[in-house]
Amino acid sequence: MAPRAGRVLITEEALRARVAELGRAIARDYAAQGPILVGVLQGAFVFMADLIRAIPIDLTTDFIGVSSYAGGTTSSGEVRLVSDLSMSIEGRQVLIVEDIVDTGFTLAYLKRNLEARHPARVRVCVLVDKVESRQVALELDYVGFTLPNVYVVGYGLDHDGLFRNLPYIAELDGG
Ligand code: 5GP
Repeated sequence: MAPRAGRVLITEEALRARVAELGRAIARDYAAQGPILVGVLQGAFVFMADLIRAIPIDLTTDFIGVSSYAGGTTSSGEVRLVSDLSMSIEGRQVLIVEDIVDTGFTLAYLKRNLEARHPARVRVCVLVDKVESRQVALELDYVGFTLPNVYVVGYGLDHDGLFRNLPYIAELDGG
């Protein structure tokens, strides 16, 4: 049977409400200096698009592309930069916007990589934290939802390139 989206774990309404809350918290914390939001491609682009519209302060956006799963549903622990930022982040307030944290390898790598470019500070906003699967210690500044160790799709999250367009987050069946 081809993999398909199964049980809905986070509804469209819950996503909308939580993204609005995150936006308000981020706007409050960055009132003094507008941040650069760095979206992690590809999975975070839907979350990023909604999140920036919930942050009513000056901000700029950029994207970075990394690859870690190479088509499977488990992390290899090996992270590769596949496309870089388009601007310097030196002296800037940087907020990494990530769809989901599983083992933590991807975000640990990204934080290290961006901190080496001498920003004022790097913080992290993740939509979903699969806290049970963590293999490296990681400080997360903003977390949308916590889920158990299941593979999920929708709202930007894919399986083999599919399901990113679902407006909710669902468990993948038969993956
Ligand atoms: P980590 O390096 O923390 O193990 O994995 C992070 C990356 O793996 C995320 O950016 C995401 O692309 C992918 N990932 C982890 N868990 C899931 C999941 O449940 N569903 C999907 N679609 N991608 C996931």
